[in-house]
Amino acid sequence: MTATHTATARLTLDAPQPLLVGGEEVPADRSFPAVDPSTGRVWAQVAEGTAGDVDRAVAAAQRAFQTWRQTSLDTRQALLWAVAERLTQDAARWPALLATENGRAVREAGFIDVPTAAEIFRFFSGVVRDLHGRTVPCGPGAHVFTEPRPVGVVAAIVPWNSPLISVAHKLAPALAAGNTVVVKPSELASVSTVEFVRLVQDLFPPGVVNVVTGFGHDVGRALVSHPGVAKVSFTGGTETGRRILGDVADRLIPTVMELGGKGSMVVCPDADLSTVTEDVLTGIFAANGEVCFASSRLMVHRDRYDELLERVAARADAIVVGDALDPATQLGPLITAGHRDVVAKRVQAALSEGAELRAGGRTPEMSEELAGGSYYRPTVLASPDGLTCASREEFFGPVLTVEAWTSEDEVVDRVNRVAYGLANGVWSADLGQAHRLADRLDSGMVWVNTWFATPLGQPQGGVKASGFGREGATATLLEYTATKVVHTSFDTTRPPMWT
Ligand code: NDP
Repeated sequence: MTATHTATARLTLDAPQPLLVGGEEVPADRSFPAVDPSTGRVWAQVAEGTAGDVDRAVAAAQRAFQTWRQTSLDTRQALLWAVAERLTQDAARWPALLATENGRAVREAGFIDVPTAAEIFRFFSGVVRDLHGRTVPCGPGAHVFTEPRPVGVVAAIVPWNSPLISVAHKLAPALAAGNTVVVKPSELASVSTVEFVRLVQDLFPPGVVNVVTGFGHDVGRALVSHPGVAKVSFTGGTETGRRILGDVADRLIPTVMELGGKGSMVVCPDADLSTVTEDVLTGIFAANGEVCFASSRLMVHRDRYDELLERVAARADAIVVGDALDPATQLGPLITAGHRDVVAKRVQAALSEGAELRAGGRTPEMSEELAGGSYYRPTVLASPDGLTCASREEFFGPVLTVEAWTSEDEVVDRVNRVAYGLANGVWSADLGQAHRLADRLDSGMVWVNTWFATPLGQPQGGVKASGFGREGATATLLEYTATKVVHTSFDTTRPPMWT
């Protein structure tokens, strides 16, 4: 199906987007186009930052750090809350902006991205009041206490798939812990980050939050390699994560790495297939399947395999693909035509390795207005033995591979064989079996009888090639601090070492 409703009026921005450095809007000498994936047409111009801009942004953040680090926790609490309030008051214009930027269906952007970003700021506004060290009992002769200290300038590197949420996940805890930040958004989704920081930057002293747009291999690299940066918080692909770790190795600075995933949903024979079907559709087709948490492998017990495969394929065939700005659209275009072609090529590779096409696997016919868009039908591949690339690689698109299993040992082994370890799930009416499986799956997150449940307070992050560090939880504050200890001795006696 393709959407037929009228889309919201298309957005175009006339003035080039600026860099945001030291509280000022700074024009760049050069700019590059932002392309609307629904039409393939340019809708905005983004400043192409340089290494010199990175120098200026880091210097501004270093200066601001000297005072921001001293602000009281109640001041930071109030400012983070004010960010959430401002975003909420401004919420009406965001869904169209996000949909234009990366092809996320406008209805999802409205009820997921904007409220989630605001909630992240509210959460850290609350928990920052509990940021404290502890005393270490060392007897009456000493007083020993620890303090969580901010680390300095944080380089926040974010991807294109959920830019507003990703930026919130970096900014809120980093600022709450007393750091200053330079954000480098993806070249494919820079406008929302610039607009968001423009919306809230006057709440903070100049230089506390800075944005340098541009290309990853250029300004991204200059930023993570900058000697003034004390920590890198990165969300993106595993290969890029490896490159960044290489670039920071000399300086030995800490990093947070939120990387790719290859999530499996393990369906046991007694699972309620109606609920499972809804979760499967959300798990792989929400946000066009361009999500690190996507459940791109559906592992079904052999007794229910045919039944669930048929249900999921039929529902996938009925999904409305179309203009991201159309409220009727359930699945928008992929981020670029190039990425759509990569996804299509991977599907072809899986088919040539023995998978069977049960839904999608093609670019849909679109109207003349949308002919330049990067659309791809939701795709279901049947691969009972799971021996194709679709069972190993992150496609980062709306492609599900359905596999069959017989024993718990077998399914655990097959799920854990992938390089990634971000999110997996188990569906079972038998909580004993569900917990047994959950315990054995190698991933930072395991959902039982649900998918995509990420309430604030529940740590998000992975193991293995999915990275390290946790976002969205109280412990995240500690990712942005270094523990300092002060040990005071009241005892003047010394062991006779030098006499
Ligand atoms: P990339 O790794 O290509 O890019 C991520 C960010 O890194 C972009 O801002 C990019 O800039 C920048 N970058 C690229 N090269 C460098 C470099 N050498 N030094 C510094 N920065 C650099 O990922 P995508 O944007 O394509 O996002 C998709 C990936 O992100 C998927 O693998 C997905 O699984 C993962 N992801 C993980 C999440 C998690 O929480 N675990 C959440 C969301 C996505 P530019 O775009 O300009 O190249």
